Amino acid sequence: MNMEKIPVFEPFIDSDTRKHLENALDVGWLGMGAFTKEFEERISDYLRLDGRYVVSTNTGTSALHIALLSANIGPGDEVITPSFNYVADHQAISMTGANVVMCDIQEDNLGIDCKKAEKLITNKTKAIIPLHFAGIPCDQKEVYDLAKKYDLRIIEDAMHAFGTSIEGQKIGSYGDITCFSFDPVKVITSIDGGCVIVNSIEEKEKLQHLRLLGVDKDTTERYKNKRAWDYDVVSQGFRYHLTNIMASVGIAQIKKVDEFITTRQKICQRYNESFKEIPELKIPQSDFNNISPFIYTIRVLNGKREFLIEHLKKLEIDVGIHFIPVHKHSYFKNCKQGNMEITEKVTNEILTIPLHSNMKNELVERVIDGITSFFKH
Ligand SMILES: *Cc1c(COP(=O)(O)O)cnc(C)c1O
Repeated sequence: MNMEKIPVFEPFIDSDTRKHLENALDVGWLGMGAFTKEFEERISDYLRLDGRYVVSTNTGTSALHIALLSANIGPGDEVITPSFNYVADHQAISMTGANVVMCDIQEDNLGIDCKKAEKLITNKTKAIIPLHFAGIPCDQKEVYDLAKKYDLRIIEDAMHAFGTSIEGQKIGSYGDITCFSFDPVKVITSIDGGCVIVNSIEEKEKLQHLRLLGVDKDTTERYKNKRAWDYDVVSQGFRYHLTNIMASVGIAQIKKVDEFITTRQKICQRYNESFKEIPELKIPQSDFNNISPFIYTIRVLNGKREFLIEHLKKLEIDVGIHFIPVHKHSYFKNCKQGNMEITEKVTNEILTIPLHSNMKNELVERVIDGITSFFKH
């Protein structure tokens, strides 16, 4: 039997995306330019920003890096983030010279456990990076309360949550600093890309300098598809800008973001409905209304995860594991960390199953059959 393999991730690239890309190539200004500006404006409109500013970057990781630098985080400082997170965050902290402090998560939303985080705070702690795992919000208010109590900055890792709302307001439209990623597998992609959202023009300009080699006129001139020849260099800087070519893909994608999110929500709701009666599975604790779902993860109990993976492999259904906790990786194992009880448990149970924008119904059915059939015998 020849079955089509179902990947965990599948970017939605249609003829319209190709048209945007071809148009950007025809314009011929390949680097940062007018499309970069347009993409930022569309992000701002979509999130309904008011008094907050978007600075796009070439990856989500570089967004985190310059977000930390813009908050003046550097050598000797400590930054708390969950171990149950992608290593990009820990690497970004490490790039600034600050020390990574890893924290446990809570069972319900798999976000940071603020009570455990509080125990890790010292006079060196400068910031917390909470993650909205899978697009489902962490206990955001508790994080902000904790930050207020100890005068800490918050850099929200909203890489999974572009389009998620909390009490009617989109993540990123309020708060301290928010970072998004538009990497190849995220809900919308610009092939690679990301952005930082901040509250002041001063911070925005600082980020713009950090983004492109510290050159002061780069943003204003390049946004007109021009270069300045009489620039000054005003700070340290990196080559982290988003190019016109990548931004053109981002523009095509953000035009379709509502369709992407709606189709993903419906699939997650179908999965929830199909798996909720299986005693050896835990489904996400969300109804997916107001959520922009990045991945759909189940928790497989009683040590059965590896057997389920084998079963699904035979059925040509690809799965993933988000995440191996970062405190287990050799480079980060000696970082300061708290008790990891929930992280240790969850990472042995968690399994990501296929979820795509506009995923074909027959593929959704095959995933559901694949999982339910495993638990029937
Ligand atoms: C994708 C992702 C990042 C990094 O984004 P890139 O654009 O891939 O650099 C950081 N944190 C989490 C949780 C992510 O999923």
